[in-house]
Amino acid sequence: VWNNCLDFIKDNIQPQAFKTWFEPIKPVKLTDKALSIQVPSKFFYEWLEEHYVKLLKVSLTKELGESAKLVYIIKMENTYGNREPFTEKIPSSNRSTVPAQELDVAIKSKNPQLKNPFIIPGIRNIKIESQLNPNYNFENFLEGDSNRLARSAGMAVANKPGGTSFNPLLIFGGVGLGKTHLAHAIGVEIKDKYPERTVLYISAEKFTQQYIESVKKNTRNDFIHFYQLIDVLIIDDVQFLSGKSGTQDVFFHIFNHLHQNGKQVILTSDKAPVDMQDIEQRLLSRFKWGLSAELQNPDYETRISILKNKLYRDGVEMPDDIIDYVAKHIKTNIRELEGAIISLIAQSSFNKKEVTLDLAQQVVEKFVKNTKREVSIDYIQKVVSDYFEMDVATLQSKTRKRHIVQARQLAMFFAKKFTKASLASIGSQIGKRDHATVLHACKTVDNLAETDKQFRKYIDDLTKKFS
Ligand code: ADP
Ligand code: MG
Repeated sequence: VWNNCLDFIKDNIQPQAFKTWFEPIKPVKLTDKALSIQVPSKFFYEWLEEHYVKLLKVSLTKELGESAKLVYIIKMENTYGNREPFTEKIPSSNRSTVPAQELDVAIKSKNPQLKNPFIIPGIRNIKIESQLNPNYNFENFLEGDSNRLARSAGMAVANKPGGTSFNPLLIFGGVGLGKTHLAHAIGVEIKDKYPERTVLYISAEKFTQQYIESVKKNTRNDFIHFYQLIDVLIIDDVQFLSGKSGTQDVFFHIFNHLHQNGKQVILTSDKAPVDMQDIEQRLLSRFKWGLSAELQNPDYETRISILKNKLYRDGVEMPDDIIDYVAKHIKTNIRELEGAIISLIAQSSFNKKEVTLDLAQQVVEKFVKNTKREVSIDYIQKVVSDYFEMDVATLQSKTRKRHIVQARQLAMFFAKKFTKASLASIGSQIGKRDHATVLHACKTVDNLAETDKQFRKYIDDLTKKFS
């Protein structure tokens, strides 16, 4: 019976689709008018139901008559340590006459370790949480010269997902310039216009975690199938994939599948594709297929309008000279721009008085300082030496004089705390010591900080200079 069905199906679909979706199916048994078939995963099942339910029904009816039934058996991946793969049955049949809700069949696992039974969604109703933030929409993504291209490309994609040449759409730009906001806005807009489409927003980091998890659990194929079911896939911060060849590989396959099927892919990155490092060439070349749109530093007018919009939405008034001051001094990061104005709003409502220029200066200074200052190991050595009134060469010297050793250890401690340098690299920069010496220094400082008041004061004084 199944072979006859297959012949019929084969004549009615593309060979590639047949190979992918029908060859892996195993007929299991035939009882009365019910044919049981085994499929590799629940995603596979969903895909069949989504795309081929009519075809299956017609072919089966031809063989077994009107009362034919189809039972899916999902072969669960054998991932939780039990020897035998276990199976679950999902009855299926004249689906078109059954309301979709009733098709939500819960599969209870036979394995106690699998705590939550998962839900098989109904036919044309795959339930995937979009993970979109409705607060990041187009309406509050203010337009300016710095983002006009990216914004309108995003709009075009939202109007016709998968139907423009902007596929993939890659949005790139520095931190805090609105990549995540714009990516969500596109997704939110698509959900609004096409509620039936499956949209998924995910950070590249989370995507990677999921992938690693799936490899561990032996469910890599399910992972891939899952992503292949999505209509609009938004991956944030793809630069995170650099150097992760396994994840890049799986993403490459997912990307190709989606792209070939006219599904929309939206990516963000902190760099243009040409500047991305440790990303495979074949993936980079895919990124360039569509459109790469840059979010640039906002110009003065845009900064002003972002600030005014924020104030307006919060129902707060603020003198123009204050707004102007903030806009003039925070230039390269919209997140900081917002942070500064939020801080000012908070202060003004707290003190119930107008914000003064003096206060604005303090707040802005804090924001600019926090991000601008990248403390280097050289800088740390200089500050520590100055503090103890010695020169850097003395601090680095081999001497075992107590106060010099302490200064050196403090420099190492702060280098560990305020830079991203490795222990080995800190050691080599502070008088050619090895990593064990640095580790020892950090521990000593930690101990002394708890037991020695004078030493505690050194740490506090110096910490202020670095933060
Ligand atoms: P990125 O992902 O590039 O680091 P985000 O998307 O997180 O930046 O944006 C940082 C903050 O700036 C967010 O709160 C976002 O709402 C805001 N923002 C960015 N661009 C705009 C814009 N054009 N209009 C209004 N707010 C913006
Ligand atoms: Mg972001």
